[in-house]
Amino acid sequence: MGTVPSAGVIGTLPTSLLRLPAALVLAACAGPGRSPDGPPAAADLVLRGGAVYTVDAARSWATAVAIRNGRIVFVGTDSLPAGLVGPETDVIDLGGQMVLPGFQDNHVHPISSGVELGECNLNDANTAAEVADLIRSYAAAHPHLSWIRGAGWQLPLFPAANPSKALLDRLVPDRPAALDAADGHSAWVNSTALALAGITRDTPDPPNGRIERDPRTGEPSGTLRESAIDLIVRVLPDRTDAELAAGLERAQRLANGFGITTVFAAVAGEPHLRTYAAADRSGTLTFRVVAAMPADAVEGDSLVPLLAQWRTRYATPRLRPIAVKIFEDGVIEARTAALLAPYLDRHGDAGQPIYDATALDRLAVELDRAGFQIHVHAIGDRAVRMTLDAFARAGAQNGAKDARHTITHLQLIDPADIPRFRALGVVANFEPLWANGSEYLTTLAEPALGPRRSRWQYPIASVVRTGAVVSGGSDWSVSSLNPLDAIEMGITHRPPDQLGRAPWNPAERVDLPTMIALYTINAAYAHHQDRETGSIEAGKLADLVVLERNLFEIPVERIHEVRATRTLLVLCPIND
Ligand SMILES: [Zn+2]
Repeated sequence: MGTVPSAGVIGTLPTSLLRLPAALVLAACAGPGRSPDGPPAAADLVLRGGAVYTVDAARSWATAVAIRNGRIVFVGTDSLPAGLVGPETDVIDLGGQMVLPGFQDNHVHPISSGVELGECNLNDANTAAEVADLIRSYAAAHPHLSWIRGAGWQLPLFPAANPSKALLDRLVPDRPAALDAADGHSAWVNSTALALAGITRDTPDPPNGRIERDPRTGEPSGTLRESAIDLIVRVLPDRTDAELAAGLERAQRLANGFGITTVFAAVAGEPHLRTYAAADRSGTLTFRVVAAMPADAVEGDSLVPLLAQWRTRYATPRLRPIAVKIFEDGVIEARTAALLAPYLDRHGDAGQPIYDATALDRLAVELDRAGFQIHVHAIGDRAVRMTLDAFARAGAQNGAKDARHTITHLQLIDPADIPRFRALGVVANFEPLWANGSEYLTTLAEPALGPRRSRWQYPIASVVRTGAVVSGGSDWSVSSLNPLDAIEMGITHRPPDQLGRAPWNPAERVDLPTMIALYTINAAYAHHQDRETGSIEAGKLADLVVLERNLFEIPVERIHEVRATRTLLVLCPIND
């Protein structure tokens, strides 16, 4: 291992870790700036004998990559230029393993999902009985907790996606309990929790929320949708800084193990910003974070000055709080997404957008003017159209700039709006893992949309064909954090355990190069990091992942089985 210049150095390449599977390797850097011209100095690290898929503009291949001071100084064949390998260069022969740019997840909730992992985690339960068993045993194992909290129950496991307080009262009779659904848009609570929050049959549904009720008595039945969840959140104890830090620690260990080197933290309020910044200052933040601070439907554009303060206050070398998250609607399963035409099973109800057009336009104009990147949750075709309209308004009013505003989730897009992403320079962020033909789609969404509209769910290929920038996100813990799960699903449109099944909505499948771009260069572009990361090119930061197999040489159905054997993250700041 070569000597590493001291400026900006937080660690050196720990050679011993390099040979551990899935180890995170922290490559040190000499601060910003390209390496000097002149005769080639020896590299700190050379990877050779690999299948290096560079994701450069030509999508070229190489076999060797050399790194000095945290930056890529050579990409090419194994016949390396003279002088690149010095006496102290660490040379690793990859034996044909694949090298990709480090994965970038363009929509994920690292801290809250990491916190969830330490609570009653229902993500892997496949039946209502399994959910019940997990809750009962978690409560028994944690008698000291004042609340039973957890998340991850799947909506299709319960009739009408509507689990009852009566069931939860039997499982947790002695304390309040609140369990978020896997998609975060519903919560299941018991009678004690409802009583503590003062929710009774006389409590009206809050704006943009619904208290599910017994149709005979009008009593709250135990499931809360969207903003009605806030009635419970108000009485929950705040997470401590230690809980948040532990959540971050769990999240980044998992993420790095999957080869993720950058995350877009989709909702990061002040406690989360504090947690990321503290980790970066102490040298323990092991992915780059682009953070979206939450907007608020009540505060509207009056919040912009505060968000601008946070943007400055919490910026650290690897934390860039440059974005603002707006929820424009809910989800189709709960009938809270805003549609252009009614749900077929809701008697003329098409769902409500969270911001009306005037409020959304005003907020987008103000955020755009203040230089924020706007990241909007839009699921229904009406919410998508209103958001595109708001971005168009912001561009018209403030002048076109390279804003790279993003719409995320994009379950249902009216075909007339598909070309507008490219035309307006709006990034389309999909969660490709959701295009899986699961019961969320077949049982809960499609019957309410009908076949004509259902065709336009997750139209990834159609948007890609327009030339718009399309990125990928996991929305973890809503779905798997492993980018390879999503990359496979974007190509197959069927779950790996159901290979006999016909692919769901096959016209919207894309190919492997496209899926890799979604999680590398396109995500980097989406958050303005594409000049520094996202591809393997001389001069860029050496954020890399080594995969045990070349994804192009195995059957598509096996992509999800491939493991990351090494993840490299460079501990130096991005040059904006
Ligand atoms: Zn999300």
